[in-house]
Amino acid sequence: MISELIRTHTGHTIADDTLAAARTRGGSLAATASAITDACHALMATEADLATSVDAISGHLSQIRRAVTGGPSTSYVTRHRLVALQQLGPRCDGLTAQWASQITHLRAVVRIWLAHQSHQGAPSDSTIKDFATGIIILIDNDISEGVLPLGVGSFSDLHSYLDANDYLYAEGVPYGTEAASEITVAVQDLVEARLRTPGRPFCTYGACTFADHDHTTLHSPDGADLPAIQPMHCQHCGRPAHYDSRLDDYRHDDPAAPDCFLIHRA
Ligand SMILES: [Zn+2]
Ligand SMILES: [Zn+2]
Repeated sequence: MISELIRTHTGHTIADDTLAAARTRGGSLAATASAITDACHALMATEADLATSVDAISGHLSQIRRAVTGGPSTSYVTRHRLVALQQLGPRCDGLTAQWASQITHLRAVVRIWLAHQSHQGAPSDSTIKDFATGIIILIDNDISEGVLPLGVGSFSDLHSYLDANDYLYAEGVPYGTEAASEITVAVQDLVEARLRTPGRPFCTYGACTFADHDHTTLHSPDGADLPAIQPMHCQHCGRPAHYDSRLDDYRHDDPAAPDCFLIHRA
């Protein structure tokens, strides 16, 4: 509905979903999205008032037309209708002026929106690298503060511990358009690739500082009891592994390790 109004009056296409999504986030884009939505609602209200007035005018006109051909007994009705018609004229004038200024306002806020979008649009590869680098720094900070374990390997991994979208917001990764979601995917892919880079340290027995990890076991891979605590290994593929009580799941220590029969990473 709103997108139709925008297309009609500005010639631009902004999907209703896009506006709704932008409004749920903070920042200037959210404010612009709200301004566009409000402008559209005001415009719709004026159009509804205008339609009512025009209907009333046309009703009075047809009554008057009938009356002037119906003889002297209808003259009172005719006068009454003419007075009503005269009052409706200025009302329509006012509404038409209001309508025009609301369209001007809508065009202005849509221009602000578009300027914001083109400012955000089509960043280069180096911009995507900058986003990813910034996000990795934030992730490393959270690791050093014990919020995340070393060895998170993906955005869904991150989401298991916190709202990973906050990293995207914090780095100013654009959102709200189709082009922006492509950028988001590119940034996430690059962050994941870096999280899984060979040589990047991961959480493992003897080096773990994450409170919700257990890298030890009392059972050998074949299930027998061990005489003493041992570093845990995956009972299927033998890779170093741990239990994460926050996720209530077993993980290979190395986020780049392939999934096996027992252990999958989202
Ligand atoms: Zn650990
Ligand atoms: Zn395994």
